Amino acid sequence: MRTHLDWVSAALTLTAFLLPQASRAQSLDEVLDQVRPDEMWRLTEVFSELDRTSSTEGERLAADYLEQQLEALGVPHHRYEFDSFLSIPISASLAVTVPESFDVSALVPAFSTSTAPGGLAGEMVYVGPTDSEIVTTRDEDFAGIDLEGRIALLRGYPSPELIYQSERAGAVGAVCIAPSPRLVNMIVSSVWGHPTREDTERLPKIPIVSITETDGRRLEELARQARIQVQLEAKTDTGWKKIPLVIVEVPGAVEPEKFVLIANHIDSWHEGVTDTATGNASLLELARVLNENQGGLRRSVRIAWWPGHSTGRYSGSTWYADNFYEDLYKNAVAYMAIDSPGVRSATELEPEGMWELKGFLESVMRERTDFRGEINRSYRYNDEAMWGIGVPSLTVYPAIPLDSQDRAKDAGGSAYGYWWHTIEDSLDKADRDLLLRDTKIFLAMLWPLATQEVLPYDFEPVVVQMEAQIGEYARAAGESWDFGPLLESVEGFSAAAQQLKARSSSAQGDAVAAANEDSMAVSRAINPVLFTIAGPFHHDPARQFPLFPGLGASAELADLEPTSEEAGFIKTELLRETNRIERALARATCIASRGTDRTPCL
Ligand SMILES: [Zn+2]
Repeated sequence: MRTHLDWVSAALTLTAFLLPQASRAQSLDEVLDQVRPDEMWRLTEVFSELDRTSSTEGERLAADYLEQQLEALGVPHHRYEFDSFLSIPISASLAVTVPESFDVSALVPAFSTSTAPGGLAGEMVYVGPTDSEIVTTRDEDFAGIDLEGRIALLRGYPSPELIYQSERAGAVGAVCIAPSPRLVNMIVSSVWGHPTREDTERLPKIPIVSITETDGRRLEELARQARIQVQLEAKTDTGWKKIPLVIVEVPGAVEPEKFVLIANHIDSWHEGVTDTATGNASLLELARVLNENQGGLRRSVRIAWWPGHSTGRYSGSTWYADNFYEDLYKNAVAYMAIDSPGVRSATELEPEGMWELKGFLESVMRERTDFRGEINRSYRYNDEAMWGIGVPSLTVYPAIPLDSQDRAKDAGGSAYGYWWHTIEDSLDKADRDLLLRDTKIFLAMLWPLATQEVLPYDFEPVVVQMEAQIGEYARAAGESWDFGPLLESVEGFSAAAQQLKARSSSAQGDAVAAANEDSMAVSRAINPVLFTIAGPFHHDPARQFPLFPGLGASAELADLEPTSEEAGFIKTELLRETNRIERALARATCIASRGTDRTPCL
């Protein structure tokens, strides 16, 4: 039987024959006009019936489907298979046994431990807060609560912070009240990617379940009136499991070794349509359009469908960062981790990125969308695994307006849809027109990065960011720490950044390659100190940090006796971190200010 796929492939061959590639330079408008919704919608429909939990048959079938489509389209691709440390939720139950007896629906988060056969019985204690408006238990709520040997009842999605505090207080189990009337899937490990031996100490050591807000508030009420005994069961399947990674490479015509990387996760919670079959579809369409316009690409475009996102804490992208370090370091000009395009009601946009690309991102948003707000800095979620390498990130997340019925009180994905990470993330939550809009915006960001001769980096906004953050630290530290010398180094870098900008904008011939190389090298120098504590080769825990995170302890100095032991420890930490930042700034300043003489920069 002749399938639809054969037809697509035949049609493409014919098109390729009629319109030889690279016959002339394509404009962005021409390329955008080629983006079509049909194949995207077809993939979204197919994936809406596949549970793509990482390492399962569904994820493998999704990878197979992508490969078949890419094969039919003639797009060059490769599939890797590797072992990944994942935690698959299996089952959970919670029953109140005293003072009354009833069952509560529960979910187990990834990386909870499993209870012994028969489950865990014990007293459950509500930690706080009392204010009904606050959705997450705070550190101060743990003060004065005796959790030793008990099960903690907490507000908030299961998170590394909540579990860490509960374990520290001696809890033997935890029940988390999600700020949602639905059961929401989560992951409780703070370990980013595959754990090292040291990292394994941060994996949760207690069983954890999450329940709905409705059930949770009932349990809180009960806990106020009486002592509660519960029976809790949690089961996860945690260990090393095989997962597939499909990657496309559309080669550039002039600098094929240099590439822009765009990616989205292939695995999902359940059939996850907006988190994110739609994103998978968007990437497939980008692969098709870019491949058909390959002759217009100066640099290559690499497209990845990461596995291990939901149950491995971004293990696929982190595996890639660890295994292709040198290639990413030398050649990746930018990284776009996208998620949740084409979401129902998600008419708004939230662009974010590293600020050497802020001006570029602003211009794309201004020219191609009606967004006129601020560009956020990059935050630490969604496969942002390249920070240590120093590759600048940029992306745009669609968002459901605050006043929409579809907007959840507190959601971290699906454009804030109430169905995020639940079994309700189904096909009716996707929007074909918005999927087309979002895919075009991704392409409008990708195309110039892959085709413009001069890379659109500008470090002046980064200087502004650095000065603001150091200023904030200096205000908090007061007299206890002198940030003056560091600010002077930033000033020196600022002057060099202006020189690099002038050099880039007027570059001709060989000077273009030199300016591009220097822009990339400056990013590699500063991003590991501006965004990480762990540095170039390791990965920080999965939580948000301020910029120059290694200087964070300076805020505590002002309240300490200057001659105290603690103050001495913090000053040692700050001195070493300052050396790390100064070294990075010195290197960045040298690179940015050198001319055609190519002064070696240490
Ligand atoms: Zn996602």
